[in-house]
Amino acid sequence: MISVYENKNECCGCTACKFICPVDAIEMIADKEGFLYPTIDQTICIECKKCQDICAFKNGYSTEDNFAEPLVFAARHKNENVLLSSTSGGAFTAISDYVFTKGGVIFGAAFDDNFNVTHQIAEDTEMRERLKGSKYVQSDLKKVYLEVKKSLSDNKLVLFTGTPCQNAGLRAFLLEESVENLILCDLVCHGAPSPLMWREHLEYIAKKTNQEVLAFSFRDKKIGWRGANTTVDFTGKTVSNNEIVNVYSKLYFSQTMTRPSCHNCKYTNTRRPSDITIADFWGIEDCMPDFDDNKGTSLILVNTVKGKWILNSIKEELSLRESCLEDCVKKQTQLQAPPLPAPYRQEFWCDYEKHGYGYISKKYGGNNVKVHLKNRVRAVLITFGLLGVIKKIRAGN
Ligand SMILES: Cc1cc2nc3c(=O)[nH]c(=O)nc-3n(C[C@H](O)[C@H](O)[C@H](O)COP(=O)(O)OP(=O)(O)OC[C@H]3O[C@@H](n4cnc5c(N)ncnc54)[C@H](O)[C@@H]3O)c2cc1C
Ligand code: SF4
Ligand code: SF4
Ligand code: SF4
Repeated sequence: MISVYENKNECCGCTACKFICPVDAIEMIADKEGFLYPTIDQTICIECKKCQDICAFKNGYSTEDNFAEPLVFAARHKNENVLLSSTSGGAFTAISDYVFTKGGVIFGAAFDDNFNVTHQIAEDTEMRERLKGSKYVQSDLKKVYLEVKKSLSDNKLVLFTGTPCQNAGLRAFLLEESVENLILCDLVCHGAPSPLMWREHLEYIAKKTNQEVLAFSFRDKKIGWRGANTTVDFTGKTVSNNEIVNVYSKLYFSQTMTRPSCHNCKYTNTRRPSDITIADFWGIEDCMPDFDDNKGTSLILVNTVKGKWILNSIKEELSLRESCLEDCVKKQTQLQAPPLPAPYRQEFWCDYEKHGYGYISKKYGGNNVKVHLKNRVRAVLITFGLLGVIKKIRAGN
C-alpha cells in the first residue's frame, strides 16, 4: 500500500503529487482543520511511486540556479495609488505589469465570489486587481499547476506567485518541462492559516453584525503600513479593527490555526525556491530611516539570473535602494526558523470541535468583555495623550 506522507507536518498541500499521478488516483481532501491533503484510492494506484518522488517538501528543492547569496533591495512603487493599494511596497504590481507588457499571464491568490481564497489566472491588469493584497488563508491551488503547464506549452511568459512551498511544488511538478518562460515569485511566509477557520470567521462576523460582508481587507493602510488594519465593508459602512473583526488575526498570530507543515517549514531561510522573493521590509526604519514613510516598503530578494533580469526590467517603476542580507534578516524571523505552534494548539482544536467558533473567539481570539474594556480604556488614554505618561510611571521614571 502506497502512502504519500506519513505525518501531517510533512505535507504542505502543494498538489504536485496529485497531478503527477498517471492514473488520477489522488484526491485532495480537507481534514477536520480544513486543510487539503492528498488521499490515494488504493484500488486504482499502480504503485509507480511518482507521487513520492515528486514531493519537494519531503525530498528537498533545488537551489542550483541560485546566487550564493540573494541580492537585497528595498523598493517602493512610484505610483502612490499602487503603493497604497498593495500590502507592502507594490513589488507584485510592478512585476506583473512587466509580464503583461510581454503578453504573459499571472497566477496568484484571490478571493472567489464566496470569499474562498483560491489561486487564479490573471490575463490583464483588471483581473490582476483581485490578486493584489495578502490574504491570510491557505490558498486552494485547484488545477493551477496544470494551467501553468498549459500556458508554458502555449509559449507564454508566466509569472507564478505564492508561498515558497507552492513555488517549490510547482517547480518539482514541472521538472521535465521547459521552464525558460516561467518566473517563480515567492513571499516570505509566516504560515498558512486554516480555510475552515476563515469560513467560520466570515459567518461569525455576519451573525454578530447581522449584515453581509461585502469586502474584506486583511491589511489596509488607513493607519499606515505598520498599522495592520483589518477592514470589513458592509452595505453603507466600513468597520476597522474592532473586537469582532480582529478575532481572526489574533488567532493567526497566536499560531493556533496554522497548517502543521508550517511548523516544519523547509523555506524559512535565504536559499529561496524562486527567482525573486517579495515581502515587507520590516526594520527599514532602523537601517534606512530616510527611505521609510510608513506607506509600505517591499523587501526584494533577487535569487537567480532570471530574477535579476526581472528587477532590471521594472526598476523604472520603483524607488529602489540596495540593502544587505544582514539588515533584512534581522527583523524577519520567517527567514530564520519555522514558526512555533501555540503550546495550546491541540486544546484550541478540541475546544473548537466541542463548542464552536464563538467559544474560541472568546477564549483565544481576545473577544471577551475584559479585553474589550481594556481596549476601550487604552483608546481613551491614547486620545488624551496619557498612555505614555502611565508607561513612564510604571517604568519608574
Ligand atoms: C500567508 C502569508 C504570509 C506572509 N507572511 C509574511 C511575513 O511573515 N513577512 C513578510 O515580510 N511578508 C509576509 N507575507 C508577504 C506580504 O504580506 C506581501 O504579500 C508581499 O510583501 C507582497 O506585497 P506587495 O506589496 O508586493 O503586493 P500585494 O499586491 O500585496 O501582493 C499580493 C501577492 O501576494 C500573493 N498572495 C496573497 N495572498 C496569498 C495567499 N494566501 N497565498 C499565496 N499567495 C498569496 C498574491 O498572489 C500576490 O502575488 C505574507 C503573505 C502571505 C499571503
Ligand atoms: S507536499 Fe505536495 S507533493 Fe508532497 S505529499 Fe503534500 S501535496 Fe503531495
Ligand atoms: S504510486 Fe503512482 S499510481 Fe499510486 S498514487 Fe502514487 S503516483 Fe498514483
Ligand atoms: S510556512 Fe512554509 S509550509 Fe507553511 S505555507 Fe509558508 S512556505 Fe508553506
